[in-house]
Amino acid sequence: MTGLEGKVALVTGAASGIGLAIARALAEQGARVTLTDIDIERGEAAAAEIPGARFLAADMSKSIEIERLVDEILKTEEHIDILVNNAGIQHVSPITEFSEEKWRLIIDIMLTSPFLLTKAVLPSMYERKWGRILNIGSVHSLRASAYKSAYVSAKHGLLGLTRVTALEAAEHGVTCNAICPSYVRTPLVEKQIADQARIHNIPEEEVVEKVMAAEGAIKRLLEPSEVAQLALFLCSDAASGITGSAQTIDCGWTAH
Ligand code: NAD
Repeated sequence: MTGLEGKVALVTGAASGIGLAIARALAEQGARVTLTDIDIERGEAAAAEIPGARFLAADMSKSIEIERLVDEILKTEEHIDILVNNAGIQHVSPITEFSEEKWRLIIDIMLTSPFLLTKAVLPSMYERKWGRILNIGSVHSLRASAYKSAYVSAKHGLLGLTRVTALEAAEHGVTCNAICPSYVRTPLVEKQIADQARIHNIPEEEVVEKVMAAEGAIKRLLEPSEVAQLALFLCSDAASGITGSAQTIDCGWTAH
C-alpha cells in the first residue's frame, strides 16, 4: 500500500528510539534498511531483530565516516531511495558556559551530517527520478528553549536545509520534509525524566505532566511508533505532493 517494497533506505541514529522505530516500520513495508549509529553494540543488536536489515557503524560528526558509509552502501545497493537524518544528541547549558567544542559537535551531528548525506544521496535519487529525504527536526525547529542554544540552532537550521533541498530536488521526483515532534518516550527522554524527578523530588509521572508535556494540549509523551507512522506516510507514494514541510507531531505544543 505504501509503495515501499524493495526500496533502499538509510536511517541514521537507528540503534535506539525514533530512528529504530522508523527503521523497523520501513522494513515492515518491505524496504531494505541500513541502520547506522555510533553505538555498535546496540546497532548490531537492533539490526539483527529487523528482517532484511543490516548495520553499518559510522560517527555522524566525521565527514570521512559519512563518505565511507555511503560508499559501502552503494557497493551493494547501487542507489539509496530513502534517507532519514535522525542522529542527535542533547546538551543543556547557558550560552555563557557552552563550550565551543560541544557547540561544534552538535552542529556537526545534527546539521552538517544531514547536509553531507543529502549531497551524497541526491545524485542516485535524481537518476531514478524518485527519492524521499526525512529530516528529524523537533518542536525546537520552530520554537526556542533557553539553555539549548546548539540544539535549537541545529534544529532551526535543519528546517532551512529541508526547505532548500525540497526546492532543488522537486523537479527530480524527490521530496524532502522535516518531522517536528514534541517529547517522545525514548531512552534519551527517559533519562531526562529520571533526572528531573530526582532533582525536584517528585514522581516521574508528575515530571511528564508538569514539565515535559506541560506545553502540549495533550498532556502526554509521544511513542516512537507514532513518529514512525508519520515517517512511513511521508515516504509513501501517497505523500508525493508534500515537500518542504515541517510536519508537527507535538500534542498541540505549537498550537499556542
Ligand atoms: P536516542 O538517544 O534514543 O537516539 C539517538 C541515536 O543517535 C542514538 O542511538 C545515538 O547513539 C545516535 N548518535 C548519537 N551521536 C551520534 C553520532 N555522532 N553518530 C552516529 N549516531 C549518533 O534519541 P531519540 O530521542 O530517538 O532522538 C532521535 C532524534 O529525534 C534526534 O535528532 C532528536 O533530536 C530528535 N527528537 C527527539 C525527541 C524526543 O523527545 N525524544 C523530540 C524531538 C526530536
